[in-house]
Amino acid sequence: MKYHVATFGCQMNEADSQRLASELEKLGLRATDARDEADVLVLNTCVVRQGAEDKALSYLHMIRPLKQRRPNVVVGVMGCLVGVRGNTPLKKAFPWVDVFMAPSEPGPMVDFLLQREGKRLAEAETRARFALQDGDAAQTQPGFLKLPEHEIGKRVTANVPIVYGCSHACTFCIIPFRRGAERSRPIGEIVNEVRSLVVQGVKEVTLLGQIVDRYGYDLLGDDYAIKRYNPGAASGVPSQNLPVHAPLVDLLRVVNDIDGLARVRFLTSHPNWMTDELLDAVRELPKVMPHIEVPVQAGDDEVLRRMRRGYTSDDYRRLIERIRAKVPNVAIATDIIVGFCGETEAQFMRTFELLEELKLDVVHLAKYSPRPHTVAAREFADDVPEEEKERRFRLLEAQHERITGQINQQYLGQTVEVLVEGEHKGKWRGRTPQNKLVFFEDAHKDWRGQMAQVKIAWAGPWSMQGSVQASA
Ligand code: SAH
Repeated sequence: MKYHVATFGCQMNEADSQRLASELEKLGLRATDARDEADVLVLNTCVVRQGAEDKALSYLHMIRPLKQRRPNVVVGVMGCLVGVRGNTPLKKAFPWVDVFMAPSEPGPMVDFLLQREGKRLAEAETRARFALQDGDAAQTQPGFLKLPEHEIGKRVTANVPIVYGCSHACTFCIIPFRRGAERSRPIGEIVNEVRSLVVQGVKEVTLLGQIVDRYGYDLLGDDYAIKRYNPGAASGVPSQNLPVHAPLVDLLRVVNDIDGLARVRFLTSHPNWMTDELLDAVRELPKVMPHIEVPVQAGDDEVLRRMRRGYTSDDYRRLIERIRAKVPNVAIATDIIVGFCGETEAQFMRTFELLEELKLDVVHLAKYSPRPHTVAAREFADDVPEEEKERRFRLLEAQHERITGQINQQYLGQTVEVLVEGEHKGKWRGRTPQNKLVFFEDAHKDWRGQMAQVKIAWAGPWSMQGSVQASA
């Protein structure tokens, strides 16, 4: 049997699809790129903005004829469109969908297939087919993840969820409603997952969470940290005063020690949870990359207050200063929402000025989109016209292109270390420690999964090019 998983949305969704694929592979199914050939067809959905939700819904409509043509195809929907509480209207609207799965929960599909195809999927027979050289023992352990057959030895990077859900209450955000309360995964399970990936050839992992720096506080039962954090406050907790030891630091240390793994990243951080201890760990641990993703969302304090982000623009300025002081050559990424409820031109310009001042490496931009159940959708008017949102978006986009173009110029003539992820149009493609995309040509060696020293000859805003240097 063959499966096809279409994934929309964030890295967390990519990781969830990977987990689903792993479970299907363990049942002996194999991946196919061709939707029409699949016996099991799954759509993993995003609803963070209306546009994403519309895309998911039209995909579901599009596959209806396929299901009519081939009624035996098992159709599944996973992710934020479904949500953790189940979604009865969705089930009614799409009767041709067989299985609904909450985010990160492939269980219902596995159960459905075992029930329907039990005989064909006899475990003993399939076990042998996915046996890995030295991963056998680990396969029975929680967290063990099997890559799709065709990715084994080929996939270089992978995402690993460490915190599910989110208990924050940003007024614009639907994620807590769809992904449920914050839950950290046990450290042993995460380590098993990373080890299983390394056995299959993965060299770099990105540890994921909505507020990744809060990893483990819930496991410790340490409600001190949770209570202390007051998202409703005008200005949040000055994070350098957070007295608690961050369990994420322990996790980074353990993952850093995994043999065969070359690099570790983590995202997304929240400004109020970025402790000095964590930044020290980023600097000191050789495999943890100098790359921080910490969204500011807006540069105006009144807008931040209405978003209930829990910090001011000055708090964020100090945070960026602190990150740069602690971690040399760090790259910093942020997220921005333009046109949030009530955002005036002057307030928008404070975002523009903040970005002009801080010169961050990456800015993920979004136009505000009201989402059901959120405080903003219930209590504030979505009063910035679409054309105005678009204009603000374009302004920041042009600014970002200019600033990041300038930042990347500094790499000209420098030799950077590139972990090669694969080939693209006859060139090798990989990333620097700062997560900058680099291309180089070399027909003489298979560089995939290797570390290359590349001298940068051309630098644009979105990528760089160079030539590989003889290895030392
Ligand atoms: N946990 C992260 C956010 C994850 S969602 C954090 O704490 O910041 C990814 C991004 O989508 C957010 O950073 C935000 O910029 C954007 N986003 C979330 N809700 C949105 C909405 N209603 N409209 C537009 N963009 C939104």
